[in-house]
Amino acid sequence: MIDIRIMSKYIIMLGAPGAGKGTQAELLQARMGLAHISSGDLFRENIAKQTPLGKLAKQYMDNGELVPDDVTVQMVMERIRRPDCERGVVFDGFPRTEEQARTLDKAFAAERKRINAVILLDAPDQVLIDRLAARRICAKDGSVYNLLTNPPRVPGICDKDGAPLEQREDDKPDTVRRRLQVFQKQTKPLIDYYQQASLLNRIRGDQEIELVERDLLASLEKQ
Ligand code: AMP
Repeated sequence: MIDIRIMSKYIIMLGAPGAGKGTQAELLQARMGLAHISSGDLFRENIAKQTPLGKLAKQYMDNGELVPDDVTVQMVMERIRRPDCERGVVFDGFPRTEEQARTLDKAFAAERKRINAVILLDAPDQVLIDRLAARRICAKDGSVYNLLTNPPRVPGICDKDGAPLEQREDDKPDTVRRRLQVFQKQTKPLIDYYQQASLLNRIRGDQEIELVERDLLASLEKQ
């Protein structure tokens, strides 16, 4: 019998807020049949359900800070154990600190899994700020729109389920500024970490969605 772990693919999307990690992760999910694990979405689901984890996470998220490593890692590790992850996972927004990356490496080593590729989506700060200001999400299913480059068919309404669109609290300018600082300080060191592991693929994130996807697929093929 073929060991499915050999065929499984584990891909990490790295990049600042607004770089396009979620959009590209969804495209990869559809194309490669991977599970899409967004730590931010998992926190937002917990906030919506008002779980103790959600209440804790919200205090950090509203300030643009990272949720502590121990609770984040535990939440993601539980998610990875679900059966839909057997064919592989595209991680979106996790890991975000060196501590998280090391914990993931240890957990994978114990299960004889490995990270196949890390995609760094690179874009200038002003592009990120403009994108986040124009980002709107569906209040019901979390679908993401951009008022300038990917607007809904009817203004203010989700194409898929007709629910109202809203701006994420942490996409407002003051919090965005803090999130970009947090990326520089806590997440950027991961670029070196994965470069040293020869896993890093740098892609220009300040292109149209289709062009980013094209470059991303080309870089995965070379892996
Ligand atoms: P995102 O949806 O990826 O932009 O994440 C939104 C917010 O959730 C972040 O600003 C953090 O407060 C929190 N968050 C998401 N992923 C992580 C993570 N891997 N580690 C710590 N905090 C996270």
